[in-house]
Amino acid sequence: MFNGSARFTVACKRCALRLAVDRIRDAEAAAMADHLRTRHPWLCLPDSAALGEVFEHFRVMPMDPDDAPPEAA
Ligand SMILES: [Zn+2]
Repeated sequence: MFNGSARFTVACKRCALRLAVDRIRDAEAAAMADHLRTRHPWLCLPDSAALGEVFEHFRVMPMDPDDAPPEAA
């Protein structure tokens, strides 16, 4: 789905959701907003929510290529 080009992890601040993305496009922003509406409906995110309103509920972290467990023996 993300064909190995993901460079960021988008993490929901309110649950364990993680999305791996290479950049945030309309599709990713829509998926994030959709997540908030379906899983956290009490946030009352408006249909016309600005990107900033959606991002407010997520953390964006650079994906660490060295994230694998160090003890590979
Ligand atoms: Zn969530």
